[in-house]
Amino acid sequence: MTRDAGGPVAAGAEHNEEAMTSDTPTAFALRGTIVDCGPAAGPRVGDEALRVTEDGALIIDNGRIVARGPAGEILREDSAHLPVHDYRDCLLIPGLIDSHIHYPQTDIIASYGEHLLAWLERYTFPAEAAFADADLARETADFFLAELFRNGTTTAMVMGTSHARSADIIFEAARREGMRLVAGKVMMDRNCPEAIQDTAESGYRESRELLERWHGVDRLAYAITPRFAPTSSEAQLEATARLAREFPDAYVHTHLAENRKEVAWVGELFPEARSYLDVYDRYGLVRERSMYAHCIYLDDTDRRRMAEAGAAVAFSPTSNTFLGSGLLDYRATREAGIRTGLATDVGGGCSFSMLRTASEAYKVSCLNDTPLSATSLLHLATRGSAEAMDIGDRVGHLDPGMEADVVVLDPAATPLTARRSARATLEETLFALFFLGDDRHVAATFVGGRNAHPERGPAP
Ligand SMILES: [Zn+2]
Repeated sequence: MTRDAGGPVAAGAEHNEEAMTSDTPTAFALRGTIVDCGPAAGPRVGDEALRVTEDGALIIDNGRIVARGPAGEILREDSAHLPVHDYRDCLLIPGLIDSHIHYPQTDIIASYGEHLLAWLERYTFPAEAAFADADLARETADFFLAELFRNGTTTAMVMGTSHARSADIIFEAARREGMRLVAGKVMMDRNCPEAIQDTAESGYRESRELLERWHGVDRLAYAITPRFAPTSSEAQLEATARLAREFPDAYVHTHLAENRKEVAWVGELFPEARSYLDVYDRYGLVRERSMYAHCIYLDDTDRRRMAEAGAAVAFSPTSNTFLGSGLLDYRATREAGIRTGLATDVGGGCSFSMLRTASEAYKVSCLNDTPLSATSLLHLATRGSAEAMDIGDRVGHLDPGMEADVVVLDPAATPLTARRSARATLEETLFALFFLGDDRHVAATFVGGRNAHPERGPAP
């Protein structure tokens, strides 16, 4: 089964105008205000373009968007017979894309205090060691995906633990949901508890087996996932280099320059490297389809190198302020020409909501004299993340031909946002939803044309 061959589409809906039966066609329409981002005019903050269709409609067939336009034009003639999910008071936006998150850290979200290295020791490593229990991993994976969908997140780049099963389990769960997901088993063979260490040999072998099992299956892709330079020996980094060479279309997913003490430690561990980025570069890991979370402490040479190599940044503002790591210079990152996505980095980040995470990106950028508009924030959380993950031709906007990952946002879901949006322009409403909105405002989450929200929207 491949998802492209057609996943199941929502059948039966409270918004339907007609009862659906088992032979209901897989096509349906969504009606509402369509809001997404067009291609950016350039690499700078502010170059993004907002596209709005008031009272618009999307026709979805077989998991893809096949038509888009004003409802009055789209919902007639050929489409007149289709079931319509009517969200005329809501916004239809592209599924939100989380470019860096850890599913095994779901249960340590919002744990008290401490900076990165202490936080890893005290919370992360014990939580990840508990994933030796595959039942716990399975139960967590199901909860994790439901929480993503509840928050309107339809695609994510996910770190597992060092247990190979942790990657199998998240892939199995994502495949059942028909979602687009990139994930990998963490590789780490030093500077962490023995219970969660692999070796250069086992890390290579298990990653390769997982990659061959999952990469390119349905909507799934594999990421070679060394945790970060301090927890991989030179032998393990050589093994990741080999994998990255052997599988050029697989992803590389890791952390970079998050915290000052971490950067200093990397300098001690790899004295021959020019910079932290250079450690990865020496092993061929700075390339197309490489995703680096954080990237706070980079210099201009690093940024130039990342841009030239086609490597991407996962901007993780909630995590960066929660762990006191620092402020990404988002403007410099973008102006260097580096593709940049938005990320929650749960559990270092303390919200699954990409709306809230975008509001934190606004605050962090504001502290760097670059306040971001509603358009910039929407772009970062959708099209920008998709381009950073090299899937911008499949998800991230709502043109015909794209996969039908669509989120319905209800501005009236709470009294305050109802009041705030009552007399606001569309752009003002969108901006306010980033700050005041959360999972309560997600009225439906369509993943590949199927409603995946655990509690709302048309029945699956
Ligand atoms: Zn992380």
